[in-house]
Amino acid sequence: MTRILLVATTTGYQIRSFGEAAVKLGIELVVASDRCDHLDDPWRDGAIAVRFHDREASVRAVQSALADRPVQGVVAVGDRPAVFAAAVASALGLPGNSAEAAERSRNKLLTRRALQAVGLSVPRFSLVLPDASPAPASAHVAYPAVVKPLALSGSRGVIRVDDAAGCAAAVERVRRLLLAPDVGEERDPAHGYILIESFIPGREKAVEGVLVDGRLQTFAIFDKPDPLDGPFFEETIYVTPSSEPLEVQAAITAAIATAAQGLGLDHGPIHAECRVNEQGIYVLEVAPRPIGGLCARALRFTTASEAEASLEEVLLRHALGQDVGSVVREAPAAGVMMIPIPRRGVFRGVGGVEDARAVPGVLDVRITAKTDALLVPLPEGRSYLGFIFARAGEPSEVIAALRAAQQRLQFRIDKEVPVIP
Ligand code: ADP
Repeated sequence: MTRILLVATTTGYQIRSFGEAAVKLGIELVVASDRCDHLDDPWRDGAIAVRFHDREASVRAVQSALADRPVQGVVAVGDRPAVFAAAVASALGLPGNSAEAAERSRNKLLTRRALQAVGLSVPRFSLVLPDASPAPASAHVAYPAVVKPLALSGSRGVIRVDDAAGCAAAVERVRRLLLAPDVGEERDPAHGYILIESFIPGREKAVEGVLVDGRLQTFAIFDKPDPLDGPFFEETIYVTPSSEPLEVQAAITAAIATAAQGLGLDHGPIHAECRVNEQGIYVLEVAPRPIGGLCARALRFTTASEAEASLEEVLLRHALGQDVGSVVREAPAAGVMMIPIPRRGVFRGVGGVEDARAVPGVLDVRITAKTDALLVPLPEGRSYLGFIFARAGEPSEVIAALRAAQQRLQFRIDKEVPVIP
């Protein structure tokens, strides 16, 4: 039996998508997660319980759990799982990144240093130590600037500031966020620090691809048509192919490949973010994992045998050492909207989903927020209301379809009732 280890934290859709891809390819998926008690997916049977912060013991636990069911490859979803997956892959002698490279990619300070060392343009940056006032740190960085935790993801805790007072307030806000139970649970020393860096204006892009022995194969460059100028940086629309001129696209790909090399990444999926302006390409991050949430569903591929394949299928094949060099994204333009949370409150439901689905070009509308759950917007929050998917001849039509569908959705969000102890 061909078997792959999937390392994940979430209860999420991504495990499900990999599970579906594995069934299609006739592969058995073994899940390792630090949230085994929360897993709500049909593949939880036999999931291996690990603790990402206790890496060595957990790697041993995985090795012994796999002793009688060896795996031929390792994949990961999420930033912390990617670090652990790298450690597991080296322990098992399977292809993968080094754990140090994965760690470097996850840590925004180490990333800045690594990108600078390979000659890429980076914003000016400065570290705020625990309990230190941000003033001396920000003296090195002109405003506008961006305050951010070192190792959270999904723009959580990322705040634009325009002056010293705003900077001090944002640092305090990020410090409070870093005290949240779910952050503390990670027991990551990086969560004691905050980075301040200069704000890079420009158009933002995301790049999805895979590293094959150090060489980058780009699957898609996504444009993000909504301006991301702060104060918070909520992702909304991703659309591909990019409308940038081909030479700009080539420069983006080259910068991401150099960044991956600088970080020491050489094998497996990458999801990267960069900004483009008159000065050039600024790589914000390269994560050694696929795009998150349900977003991968915006990507459909055609294989050498003309078969349709999902991103997860392509990545499982790659994890098994198969050649995915001839895999290309489908011809039409495609996109996804991560539906933003408009305000804090209790989610009661949504109307207009069928109307939204009926918008020409819209493929699906998936509401992922749970009824009666508290919705927390950025910068403290970490989720979306759901996802809208669209496909059309041109990127502009995809964008129009996504916006039209969003307008047809009516979310019911009640005020949060304060709990009086
Ligand atoms: P995360 O890993 O949480 O996504 P990032 O560092 O990638 O954190 O920042 C999230 C978003 O914040 C980016 O996608 C970008 O829109 C914005 N951002 C982050 N740093 C900068 C910067 N220096 N200049 C301008 N925008 C930034």
